[in-house]
Amino acid sequence: MISVQQALHIIDTTKIVHHIKKVKISKSLGFILAEDILAPINMPSFRQSAMDGYAIIWSDNTDYKVTEESKAGDAKHITLQPLEAVRIFTGAKVPDTADTVVMQEHVSKHADGIRIIKMPRQGANVRPVGEQVHAGDKVLTEGTRLNEAAIGFLAGLGISKIAVYNTPKVSVLVTGNELQTHGKPLKDGAIYESNSVMLKMALQRFGIKKIKIFKAKDTLKATNKAIKKALDYGDILLISGGISVGDYDFVKEALDYNHVNELFYKINQKPGKPLWFGKKDQQFVFALPGNPASALTAFYVYVLPILKKYSGFSDYHLPRLQAKLNSAFKNTTGKTLFLKGYCKDGNVGILPSQQSSMLNTFATSNVLVTIPEDVENLEAQEHVTCINLDGYGN
Ligand code: AMP
Ligand code: MG
Repeated sequence: MISVQQALHIIDTTKIVHHIKKVKISKSLGFILAEDILAPINMPSFRQSAMDGYAIIWSDNTDYKVTEESKAGDAKHITLQPLEAVRIFTGAKVPDTADTVVMQEHVSKHADGIRIIKMPRQGANVRPVGEQVHAGDKVLTEGTRLNEAAIGFLAGLGISKIAVYNTPKVSVLVTGNELQTHGKPLKDGAIYESNSVMLKMALQRFGIKKIKIFKAKDTLKATNKAIKKALDYGDILLISGGISVGDYDFVKEALDYNHVNELFYKINQKPGKPLWFGKKDQQFVFALPGNPASALTAFYVYVLPILKKYSGFSDYHLPRLQAKLNSAFKNTTGKTLFLKGYCKDGNVGILPSQQSSMLNTFATSNVLVTIPEDVENLEAQEHVTCINLDGYGN
């Protein structure tokens, strides 16, 4: 058995070969950029007015004659003389000779033209060529997470396709004779199967789109076969159940049979002690304990970092935060605990129903309070480290 730190160290040092694909920017939300982006054009590419108003050659005079108009999208070339003004609108081309745009609110109109009531500084309200970026500048670097702002920025540069790190295809294999699908009243001794949809939702929330569910009964033959099929599909395989030491737990043996090499098995933690992690060539396999809270906890702490590393994230662990414990807590287990908690304004409460079979309070928790194996007593108001389940910082 290894400690949580040792298990996380193995996760951290696991090397993953990335897969890169070209995608349309509209399909790149949430992906990690796999290339540096150089600006193909100046932005703006011509001198633009930042206001609705009048373009002038700046001087001490207040009165100007309005000669022409320049609206957004006009391509015409206007030459302006001193004491002339061009009516101009936001985003329109500023005439070459003009150096200043006066806001229309600072102007009064009269028969011959305009009078400037409030003269701006010379150069005001003109966006120079390349004000935002110059052609050839490195404007986004490899490793950037693509959010809507980044995608809008790329669109403004005229870039329509980019290279991103591909996300893995994931197989989810649920094992257990007792598992019943929905739609019929429960048979005696059966339970409704819930891990496959739970894991699928967790995968989807964190950006995994290609997911396939497989099922196996508790026999060695069925487990061998199902693991083989699941490996044929997924880059990453999550197995639920059958990894403990009971007489009907066949997953470990079946992983050996399928030549998946163990990287770790059993962690000194609660919930989720019998967690197994292994590798076959470039495929990764997690065998998660079947108890739903164990499976989900293992997903957040160990599976998600591998999925995120695979997808190009450099910050691949869920963010940790410090919070003050609402009430004292004793850890008499000698194990690292991951406790369902609810954190608000820096204070965290540990929720009831911590058993690994229970999801009722997991459903309303927003953190996992982490209590190290060597910490026995925690006083109220002491600080604890919590895993923030609400997402990735970035
Ligand atoms: P196992 O890890 O196979 O020994 O299963 C541990 C516990 O989790 C048992 O009570 C199982 O019935 C339950 N369990 C296993 N797989 C699932 C599943 N897919 N959905 C809900 N509960 C499960
Ligand atoms: Mg089982």
